[in-house]
Amino acid sequence: MLPAKSFEIAEALRAEVAEATVFSGLDPRVSFAPWSLTVAEWPLARIVCHNTEQAASAMRVASERNVPVTVCGGREDGWGRNSRRDALVLDLSQMTKVHFNEQQATVEIGSGVTTGILLETLSSDTVLPTTANKNVGVIGAAMGGGYGMLCGSYGLTCDALLSADLVLSNGDLVHVSSDENADLLRALRGGGSGYGVVTSAQFSTHHCAQVLAANITTPLNASFPALLLIQELLDEHPVQLNLLPLFTKMPDESIQLLISFVWNGPEQEGRKVLASFRKLKNTTFQNEGCVPYRETLDDGAIWPWGKYWAIDTRTLSRLTPEIGQVLIEAAEKMPFPGNVLFLHDFHGHALNEPKAGSAFPLRQNHFVLFAAGSWDRNDEPALAHQQRSWIDFVSSKVTPFALPGGYINFLAPEDQMRATEGYGDAASSLKSLKRKYDPQDLLRYATGRLV
Ligand SMILES: Cc1cc2nc3c(=O)[nH]c(=O)nc-3n(C[C@H](O)[C@H](O)[C@H](O)COP(=O)(O)OP(=O)(O)OC[C@H]3O[C@@H](n4cnc5c(N)ncnc54)[C@H](O)[C@@H]3O)c2cc1C
Repeated sequence: MLPAKSFEIAEALRAEVAEATVFSGLDPRVSFAPWSLTVAEWPLARIVCHNTEQAASAMRVASERNVPVTVCGGREDGWGRNSRRDALVLDLSQMTKVHFNEQQATVEIGSGVTTGILLETLSSDTVLPTTANKNVGVIGAAMGGGYGMLCGSYGLTCDALLSADLVLSNGDLVHVSSDENADLLRALRGGGSGYGVVTSAQFSTHHCAQVLAANITTPLNASFPALLLIQELLDEHPVQLNLLPLFTKMPDESIQLLISFVWNGPEQEGRKVLASFRKLKNTTFQNEGCVPYRETLDDGAIWPWGKYWAIDTRTLSRLTPEIGQVLIEAAEKMPFPGNVLFLHDFHGHALNEPKAGSAFPLRQNHFVLFAAGSWDRNDEPALAHQQRSWIDFVSSKVTPFALPGGYINFLAPEDQMRATEGYGDAASSLKSLKRKYDPQDLLRYATGRLV
């Protein structure tokens, strides 16, 4: 049965938010297709906002009625944080404006702008360190960090964040920059998304005409030396080189290690680094050449929407021989084609905090491991069980080698203890900031929730 609250809040929003599009009750448009059906919840109501004023008025309506709010930007959350049963969805996915300032080398974007939208709107030689996956919201990713294929050269997405318009939980609008509300700027750079609602944000850009890119495929039986080579090359070239290794089971049931190679530096040197992989047995190369950075993005084909997903994450400091063996054992046990085990690399300029600071906690070389398996609505329950068991197996094997905490954008909402451990001593100041700016805890489903 639907709570009367659904209609109440919708009525108030229609009355108080100019030109609002509001869905409530059993209207199928209340809900929207999430990335993972495992976590899909029918929300209380949904308001589609087209500008900051609407978002601020909607937040005020929610605050006056003490209704929790979830925010939907790029819609790519792995854990359904963007749509919860007792919450109003503030849907900002239509706010997709991109304004580039060439003189200042900055770009101003709306909350619905994804990595793909952003890079396709900018000229092909203007870049920022975006996520590797093009469907992810730029602002959503930045609030947790934002790992991608330019991390060594330019840092995380959050490091490029210069300023933001932020609607606080009481509906007040504040500007956040290194000169105004600098504590909030620091928090928005990797400290989670619970401090307010970002309606637009400014990021610094870089000039990068082309990168040398390639897709390298190595069979499982040659993947051990490949993993060690990845570590060796990243140690030697932390600024120019980015490598995203990904084990997956192919439709013919073979297990392969696919390595995305991106070199942002002198081409001849990059070709020599790429050639190091030719020593590995039975290794093949595809799409090798100099291309604009945006052409290296993952188009999400291996992460289809509308499936049930089981996922987990751990953080590893290095690809040592022991960890290499563990990863290979985990890959060997992949139950189905489409299972994925991948590593986001973190090194080079990502080690340096941006000016005015950042709450992103782990400024040391590391890899973020992400394991995922999916199934469909009509699949046998045993299949879902097998996927979950494999994810548990991976986590149990890797945990003894893992660093405390975990990447908050991949952590489950109930993993608050790990999120808190990850922030270490900074956790208490982030919690005080959260209490100050969201005293009613309306944004309780945000990323980076701490205990
Ligand atoms: C298939 C897949 C691939 C991914 N690839 C990468 C990757 O390459 N690199 C990487 O770093 N991460 C990656 N991620 C993780 C991603 O960064 C997070 O899931 C991120 O939160 C997604 O943001 P979004 O705006 O797309 O999602 P949404 O579902 O729209 O938002 C997720 C949460 O972020 C918060 N949020 C989003 N926008 C705002 C806003 N404007 N104001 C306040 N809060 C907001 C809200 O709490 C919201 O519930 C991936 C996730 C998936 C599922």
